[in-house]
Amino acid sequence: MESLFRSTCIITPSGVVDGAVHVRDGMIVAVHDTSEIACGIPSEDFGGLAILPGLVDPHVHINDPGRSDWEGFETATRAAAAGGITTLIDMPLNSSPVTTTLSALHAKHEAAKGKLSVDVGFHGGLIPGNSGQIQALAGAGVFGIKAFLVHSGIDEFPNATMVDLREAMPILQRLNLPLLVHAELDEATLPSRDGRTDHGAWSASRPQSMEVRAIDMLLRLHEEFPCPLHIVHLAASDGIAPLREMRTRWKNITVETCPHYLFFSESMVPPNNTLFKCAPPIRDEQNKKRLWEGLEKGDIDMIASDHSPCPPGMKALDTGDFFRAWGGISSLQFGLPILWSASVGLALSDVARWMSSTPARVFGLGDRGAIAPGYRADFAVFDPRGTTFVEPSMIQHRHKLTPYAGRKLQGRVVRTYLQGTLVFDDGKFPGPLSGRAISRSQS
Ligand SMILES: [Zn+2]
Repeated sequence: MESLFRSTCIITPSGVVDGAVHVRDGMIVAVHDTSEIACGIPSEDFGGLAILPGLVDPHVHINDPGRSDWEGFETATRAAAAGGITTLIDMPLNSSPVTTTLSALHAKHEAAKGKLSVDVGFHGGLIPGNSGQIQALAGAGVFGIKAFLVHSGIDEFPNATMVDLREAMPILQRLNLPLLVHAELDEATLPSRDGRTDHGAWSASRPQSMEVRAIDMLLRLHEEFPCPLHIVHLAASDGIAPLREMRTRWKNITVETCPHYLFFSESMVPPNNTLFKCAPPIRDEQNKKRLWEGLEKGDIDMIASDHSPCPPGMKALDTGDFFRAWGGISSLQFGLPILWSASVGLALSDVARWMSSTPARVFGLGDRGAIAPGYRADFAVFDPRGTTFVEPSMIQHRHKLTPYAGRKLQGRVVRTYLQGTLVFDDGKFPGPLSGRAISRSQS
């Protein structure tokens, strides 16, 4: 099977190409400029629409098995396909069982069977007492091991202690497997919230210092046990400076932030709208600016959704109580237009780096993340001048609740290809499901 995908705006690692991507048997064999396009090969012409490498989202909570009423493989991967994501990595919670043992990982694979619209990999989890499982989880192909330093939200996934980290990090160093950390440490004392339950009180209860203290602690541990270390969902711009300093010496410390920290600031959050609840919380405008600077200067490597949905009943929408509501933002399908809307003057090559090539490289997905010969033909066809109107009928997530509801976002994902096969076509999902469960190669 051979085909050409033409566009005047193909986003490749070496710049924007006006030409065609030549695909054979699901793999890219060449990127031609217009003068060298071969005739006689079936071609699809996208004109001025951009062809980006399929996005790679390394931070998605699918919650299947056990809590598929929160989100399941079928709905999550359809949402991913509709968002131009061709590979995602599932977090070890909030499924039940949580993915902290080999048998739980097998249950994940079982639950995913026959349901995948895009490729899905899995992270394992570190909880007290399970460091003995890491070797087996790595052998079975997990892409990283995730730990919390504060309460995770569910009791089956307790936070790791210093003892657990000291046990796990040498193992991860030997395996060269990333330790992903939710980097917040509880503060001993915080000012009283005087019964307030609004977003301001929530955000004051999780100050930047919680993230900074956690980062300092992790960096000290990394000096001792230099395993690959990945800070998930950095929201505190005060954390950038200490990370930058360490990263000049260590290339295996990586940092992620999320679309909601780049799009929203505190002043945009309606005080009692718990759809905006996440941890760490959405912070002020100045902080948002500094996160953008962090991305632009290379202090933050990538953007992941941290898609973390729950049934509507758990959002405490009736009371607007941020302390009772489930924390987590649903936005898997909208990462690309969210980002495109949030920044003026952004280049699509930056988007491709932050949302595709860097996460692919960091998590060992060497066959994807770029439009270049030898890579998989995973593409997102994106209309940068289009708009995405976020309304319930077009949302593919299991639940339609999202803080982006009712917004007109800039840019629109028009098509998504997985290994050269069309999996999303302007609101429709043609053909049989072609996503696969993937494992990290041991090389
Ligand atoms: Zn998460």
